[in-house]
Amino acid sequence: MLVSERLRQAPGMAIYRGSVPHESCAGRFVFDSFYYVDLDEWPDFRRTLDEDRLGKIQCDTCGDIAEVKFPVIVEIASRNLLIFATHGGDDGGVESGFVAVLDRAAAMLTSVVAERARRRPYTFVHGYRGLRVLLDALDGVPLPKPAPPYAHAPDTGRHFSTLHGYRYGDLFFHYPGQRTVDDLVCALLHWSAGVTDAAEMKKIVAVAEGILRIIGPHHPWLVHELGRLYLELGEFDEAQRLLELASSAQHCWLAVTASILDATPATRADVESQSAELPHATPATVRSDVCSVRHTVTRQRPAYKDYAFWHFPEMEQNAHPSGYTTQTVHEARGLAVGYLSRYFIDESRSVFPSFSIAFGNVLTGTKENIEAVADAEPEAVRGFWWHYVLARWLGHTNEHDSLVQEIDTAIADLAAEADLERFYLEGAARELRG
Ligand SMILES: [Zn+2]
Repeated sequence: MLVSERLRQAPGMAIYRGSVPHESCAGRFVFDSFYYVDLDEWPDFRRTLDEDRLGKIQCDTCGDIAEVKFPVIVEIASRNLLIFATHGGDDGGVESGFVAVLDRAAAMLTSVVAERARRRPYTFVHGYRGLRVLLDALDGVPLPKPAPPYAHAPDTGRHFSTLHGYRYGDLFFHYPGQRTVDDLVCALLHWSAGVTDAAEMKKIVAVAEGILRIIGPHHPWLVHELGRLYLELGEFDEAQRLLELASSAQHCWLAVTASILDATPATRADVESQSAELPHATPATVRSDVCSVRHTVTRQRPAYKDYAFWHFPEMEQNAHPSGYTTQTVHEARGLAVGYLSRYFIDESRSVFPSFSIAFGNVLTGTKENIEAVADAEPEAVRGFWWHYVLARWLGHTNEHDSLVQEIDTAIADLAAEADLERFYLEGAARELRG
């Protein structure tokens, strides 16, 4: 299709006018390809999409109509989201496709639009169909029943998992690239939420900075929290630097799913109903930032509600920032588990129940991670134990020999059911002897 000159020149639009020869006549197909569409600039976009006109091109001589599939980036400023409609499959090339289209678009957009685009989270959908369904869902329209064809392999097996991200009506947005460190970050956030004392804040800052030094400043929540702590501590330059960084860290793949169970009860125990404005109940129709309501849900597999619209299981499996390797993630875990164990086990502080659950998840998840890679990645496991021992003891003492004895005594004194602590103490003793 072709659009008006006014629309082509609008600041939030990147539209490329091209043409290809029509082989069965002497004419040409002239078309507009949409790299970038700011929905605020083109309110009629929805109708164009619904009427299936987006990919239709017409020969200027014989009038024949052909169909092409242009990838398109749609910006919804009111929801702080870019949606990339891709026609490729779930093969891992989607993200590089997005980057290429955004680069091309940025050269045609005003610098203000290009700049804000590079701060927004982006999500991927399968073609025009996925785009239509997501735009509808964001407006509160119930999801249709997914139907083939699917541009991805259906899930095999059934299971539930915990997902941290943002609740948005019936949808849930999450960072697939952060799954390997989500539990660490959540534990730190729970700790940080209960702290008002400056000395305690500095401890959290030390742990968070240690983690970021190893894996890089990629987790938007962690970087943001560190910035907030610096703000509380009155260190404004550092705070500003980190909050800027957190804002650019948001520019990453924010995957969407509708296959979730939300355990938050809609009514209170005393029968009075929850306010509709409470975070867990935010309806999609409230036009706000998709990243405004942090939440944790249980994800269902198979994710059949996502089929054909925005399901990229292969890509989700392999998505992570380049700084996240088995080695660095285990080192970061070692550091976090070491510090948290020092503060909350050795110094036996009182903790909030929510923190204790989050900490328990870190201890269990880390043990599982270590056992899973023990044979294939011995270096990563060594990296874990070294950072763990350093954070829990060695960074705070010079008495190596008595330390080994202390740990042996602690193991001997453990209750029979203290399996987790036994696992960590025995590992530490091995590391210190080795
Ligand atoms: Zn023709």
